[in-house]
Amino acid sequence: MPAPYEVYAIRYARHADRTARQNFIGDDAHDGPSPLDFFVWLARGEAGTFLVDTGFDDAMAARRGRDLLTPVAEGLAALGVDAGAVKDVIITHMHYDHAGNHALFPAARYHLQDDEMAYATGRWMTHAALRQAYTADDVAEMVRKVFADRVVFHAGDAELAPGLSLHLIGGHTQGMQVVRIWTRRGWLVLASDAAHLYANMDEGRPFPIVHDVAAMLEGHRTLKRLASHDDLVIPGHDPLVLERFRPPDPALAGLTARLDADPVGGGRRA
Ligand SMILES: [Zn+2]
Repeated sequence: MPAPYEVYAIRYARHADRTARQNFIGDDAHDGPSPLDFFVWLARGEAGTFLVDTGFDDAMAARRGRDLLTPVAEGLAALGVDAGAVKDVIITHMHYDHAGNHALFPAARYHLQDDEMAYATGRWMTHAALRQAYTADDVAEMVRKVFADRVVFHAGDAELAPGLSLHLIGGHTQGMQVVRIWTRRGWLVLASDAAHLYANMDEGRPFPIVHDVAAMLEGHRTLKRLASHDDLVIPGHDPLVLERFRPPDPALAGLTARLDADPVGGGRRA
């Protein structure tokens, strides 16, 4: 096996006043607070440093009514990573909270699924319900990167380096991909929005922003199949991530958690 990677979740924003009705299909009976956190993720190993998603900036936070807690560049700097030096960015999908900060990574090439570019630039975007989480500028900036030879397209599953691979899931968006990473605890899966919250996948209650509900539900199973343990599937927006995994340094609590280390309370999840 390849040398294990270090993997971090970096929280940059929050949507506090959100309720379960907005996060689960068919949850009308038990509506209550269900805040979302916003993350980017970092995998660091012998093959290099891989950034998973790029987050949004303060202008987008204001436009969408989200709270920017720590700009993405600062969060990366806290882990000793210079955004300007990042060479590989994986875009799980192009929703506004995953594909912004366009100028922050001038040295990076962007890994994207064929299906995601087709989805975000084609017929489906004529439906307001399907384009609500996309921003035209994010998509246009990615098209510009295509013309600048800075996008690497993938059609389905692909290994980027030994112990780090992409997996096409679909569901949430047509080209939604997840990242499988070899760690000292086994195979870890960064689900991004293939599962927003632990409860979406553990209870079979899908998130309402969705292109294909059936693919999303099947995707939940795929996530668990790709991971060595269920607690190595990391959802995309769950505030519990920063409670279940510890910061690499106490000074970084609330900003980042080391996902390849043992979770709080050992290897099990309540
Ligand atoms: Zn998201």
